[in-house]
Amino acid sequence: MSLIEAKAVTKNYRMGDVDIPALKSVDFSISEGAFAAFVGPSGSGKSTLLNLIGCLDHPTSGELRVHDTDVSKLSRAESAAFRGEHLGFIFQDFNLVPVLTAYENVEYPLLMVQGWPAEKRRERVTAMLEAVGMKEQMHKRPDQMSGGQKQRVAVARALVGSPKLVLADEPTANLDHDTAYLILNLMKKMRDELGTTFVFSTHDPKIMQEAEITFTLEDGKLAAQGAQS
Ligand code: ADP
Ligand code: MG
Repeated sequence: MSLIEAKAVTKNYRMGDVDIPALKSVDFSISEGAFAAFVGPSGSGKSTLLNLIGCLDHPTSGELRVHDTDVSKLSRAESAAFRGEHLGFIFQDFNLVPVLTAYENVEYPLLMVQGWPAEKRRERVTAMLEAVGMKEQMHKRPDQMSGGQKQRVAVARALVGSPKLVLADEPTANLDHDTAYLILNLMKKMRDELGTTFVFSTHDPKIMQEAEITFTLEDGKLAAQGAQS
């Protein structure tokens, strides 16, 4: 079953009185449970596409279905609710809250939703920190962590609310190569254990080989699609 379905998705950015075409009639589908990557050089449209899938922006035209919802038609409030319910995000620069500990950063999304009694929340947060190998370091703040440790915490934070889909825009761009592989393997392990679909982007040809399916963007067009062996 496909979790993401794009038909003739176009995105133009308006700059003054010119339109900058960032995506040019892109078609693809990503199935549930996939470990998929959008790859391509800087400026090829990766972030634009992830922002559309993540309901952070609307396509200019075309149809984009995520989890059976046409997200191009959602209002601002509906987009926010959809993100909260179904999506998790991992960022290139980790985006942890500097004054909060690892534990508090992972707990934070759960404080935003109803229905998490304190005890259940504590169990969930602790289990997620353990799953990403950060339980021993749960009281550290971001400035006391390495880049790899920060991204582990970010993976736990993205998954703590049990989203259908995690979107990660260049999650390894600020990590050295060995750490990048560890983070991708952690993401894949979490996909295997939880069934969460992961879609990430990278401009690094080596990192792209860790995906099970890749979509290559060139100048806003989908230039190739392939399964990795
Ligand atoms: P990538 O993530 O692959 O580097 P982007 O999606 O960021 O590519 O950018 C695709 C194209 O859209 C580029 O030409 C970029 O300059 C342009 N672009 C991206 N965001 C904006 C914006 N907010 N306003 C105007 N142009 C933008
Ligand atoms: Mg980008």
